[in-house]
Amino acid sequence: MSKRIPISFEFFPPKTDIGAEKLRAVHQELQQLNPEFFSITYGAGGSTRERTLAAIDDFNGKGTAVAPHLSCIGDDKARIAELLDLYKAKGIDRIVALRGDLPSGQVGLGELPYAQDLVRFIREHSGDHFHIEVAAYPEMHPQADSFDNDIKRFVEKANAGANAAITQLFFNPDAYFYFCESVEKAGINIPIAPGIMPITNASSLIRFADSTGADIPRWIRKQLASYGDDNQSIQAFGHEVVFKLCERLIAGGAPSLHFYSMNQTEPTRRLVIDLGLN
Ligand code: FAD
Repeated sequence: MSKRIPISFEFFPPKTDIGAEKLRAVHQELQQLNPEFFSITYGAGGSTRERTLAAIDDFNGKGTAVAPHLSCIGDDKARIAELLDLYKAKGIDRIVALRGDLPSGQVGLGELPYAQDLVRFIREHSGDHFHIEVAAYPEMHPQADSFDNDIKRFVEKANAGANAAITQLFFNPDAYFYFCESVEKAGINIPIAPGIMPITNASSLIRFADSTGADIPRWIRKQLASYGDDNQSIQAFGHEVVFKLCERLIAGGAPSLHFYSMNQTEPTRRLVIDLGLN
């Protein structure tokens, strides 16, 4: 059994009433695993503003902290300030602050073009009220011109007032440890939680990883491809790979794990239980 470290779960806001109902059940099931918080994603430019708010309202005050994601690209300070005040009034004190990605073709970065600008703005507007998490990229952000510059930007983001970070999904633990060491060498000591993506479906995993610039090692891609439509084998293999990844991360000192639940109870629950983190 691994050392017991805190866990958190990420949801995306459902598009339909049926999806919202289903997510309430998932929330109840995952809550039994004693997470530190649930986070709810937010569409860049405010595209899921109402749906993210509705999901926050659904889960706020139900015993486990909720953390809305908030992105800044293409948005303006007044709308962001309004949301910050609304969250504060609802008793929310944790936020995941991001730049977001504009849909292709859309121009106009808005008043806060980078996540570090958003973090600075949150501190200016709300002082120390919010615990701020930011994004980290062990395999480099896809738009960064070099690893060193990406680390430099991450350091600026931390110095702007971030308390902690959550990484993009990855399957190579060495990339995570190297990133953490580089950040530490640059004088930053905030906790960096690995973002863990369970493997349940080969094509959706590959699509998601490709869209985020995350690397799926060749041996994992090949093995997934060899199972074809055999979902049972994909899930068994996926569980083993991600379980071992988590074990190595915990043994190497990861402070907590953040699971991209994809709004499903399984296989996140199975990983958490098998790791002894509940
Ligand atoms: P930044 O930290 O601003 O970095 C973006 C790029 O700009 C990097 O290449 C960086 O090196 C560079 N950069 C930073 N500052 C400067 C500067 N001053 N000058 C020049 N270059 C600079 N997206 C959503 O839309 N909604 C979500 O809810 C969401 N949740 C996420 C949760 C997690 C845990 C993660 C890892 C990502 C999430 N994303 C989400 C995706 C994220 O918005 C994208 O990856 C986006 O491209 C970058 O966001 P960021 O906050 O990392 O940006």
